[in-house]
Amino acid sequence: MNFMKHDNWNYEPFWNEAVSQIRTILSEQEFLMWFTNIMYDSSSKETICLSVPSAFYQDQVRQRYFSLIKNTIDDLTGVDMRIDFVVKKRSPGKSGKDTENSKKQESAAQYSADKTTKKPNTHSPDSPEREKPDSNFRDSSYENSASVTTQTNRNNRRNRGKEPLNEVYSFDSFVIGENSSFAYNACLAIAKNPGTTYNPCLIYGGVGLGKTHLIQSIGNYVLQENDNLSVAYVTAETFTNEFIQAIGERKNQQFKNKYRKVDILLIDDIHFLQNKSQTQEELFHTFNALYDSNKQMVFTCDRPVSELKELTARLRSRFERGLNVDLQPPNFETRMAILRKKCNVQGFSISDDVLEYISRSINTNVRDLEASLTKLIAYSRLLNKEITREIAMEQLKDSYSLTNEESFAVESIQRVVSDYFNISHIDIRGKKRTKAIAFPRQIAMYISRQMTDLSTTEIGYEFGGRDHSTVMHACQRVESRIQSDSTLDNTMQRLIRQVKEYKKSSR
Ligand code: ADP
Ligand code: MG
Repeated sequence: MNFMKHDNWNYEPFWNEAVSQIRTILSEQEFLMWFTNIMYDSSSKETICLSVPSAFYQDQVRQRYFSLIKNTIDDLTGVDMRIDFVVKKRSPGKSGKDTENSKKQESAAQYSADKTTKKPNTHSPDSPEREKPDSNFRDSSYENSASVTTQTNRNNRRNRGKEPLNEVYSFDSFVIGENSSFAYNACLAIAKNPGTTYNPCLIYGGVGLGKTHLIQSIGNYVLQENDNLSVAYVTAETFTNEFIQAIGERKNQQFKNKYRKVDILLIDDIHFLQNKSQTQEELFHTFNALYDSNKQMVFTCDRPVSELKELTARLRSRFERGLNVDLQPPNFETRMAILRKKCNVQGFSISDDVLEYISRSINTNVRDLEASLTKLIAYSRLLNKEITREIAMEQLKDSYSLTNEESFAVESIQRVVSDYFNISHIDIRGKKRTKAIAFPRQIAMYISRQMTDLSTTEIGYEFGGRDHSTVMHACQRVESRIQSDSTLDNTMQRLIRQVKEYKKSSR
């Protein structure tokens, strides 16, 4: 690749690559708010010039993102680059957005910038007023990226993990619902008093339910409120890769020091450690060292630890020590509250009717919910059209069927099992606990566990929002009955065959 001829410098490809890297670091909202308005303008020797739509943007971007942009571009070019900005008013249509939309976005940005400069430390996640509907507007998630310049530099030095914490993940920007209030409060308590009551803590739940958001909120809160505590946030995957690299480079001791000397260790997605026996061994010792010196540890996992089959028993028992909390999928009301908050943060308004439509159709997790909303907002801004229910239906068609792939599998199982036992399909998902219904329901749960990749949490959700422990209990019960009753075993085989046929014929 030769992007630069002597007289014709062109750093545009580097800028494009930098933008896609930055996109993976920032939250979607933050990225859309700031980076969709920064355009490549021109290059000269070791200089890249970027255009922004107003002096306001220029100030804000310089203040918030200058070092992020510069470091990313320096890394990509291998040169100590100069980054210049130029203010250019966008002509309608040029960047796919018209000026009015830029203005709207600017006023949203202005709003969040105002809030952050006026009261940089308005952190009161547990104040009762935060749940009032109109307070949504006040606790925009940008509030926490408040003193980015001063705070971040200081924090970076104390954040010893490989991965940087994303400041958008804060307790303030987390919408509490009945599915998450226990996990939220436990995490907040940990952030306020690390290493005391809940140590270690394990947060578990299906994808997109806010595990990363909560674990990072702890890190951000601790760094913000304490001047002398060090935090390491790392995904289990990075932890594993770093460990392997350390062995290869004979730097085991450095690796050990890095993780055994922190005050707070946050490891995301520990299910990744399955089958990685050497890394498990290393983590086991790290755990013991930190535990013995009362250092806080928090882990996240996509299922209860008891379901991690490929984990050594002694490490599993360490994770199970302390507090284990689960995150359930949000119910309809919470999904509405999340959408409302996200609209407010973006300075975007959508009618309740449409929000209701989204909340009803996207019932899988918060990530899908967020992605659907982002898609609709982008569509509306691009075409300068208000979102109607029809537009929402059309735009979300694909995501809807995609997120329901697994639900469909469970539904097929529920239908086949309820037909076989002559009960109603509605009852199998419902609340009734009579024997005639409870046993077929347990069978359907057991088969769901066998035939899909869903966790017990997710299966519980498909059975009228039941708890994962109910599903686990059902599976154990059916399993032990199969052992002692060979006719039941035959019935199971037959049901599984029927489900496969049913799925084929309904496609
Ligand atoms: P997980 O780590 O469990 O897969 P994430 O923490 O990455 O899920 O959450 C997915 C997205 O949904 C993130 O953008 C996160 O900020 C958002 N999110 C999840 N739960 C909530 C919540 N209760 N309130 C606000 N945003 C949430
Ligand atoms: Mg995550």
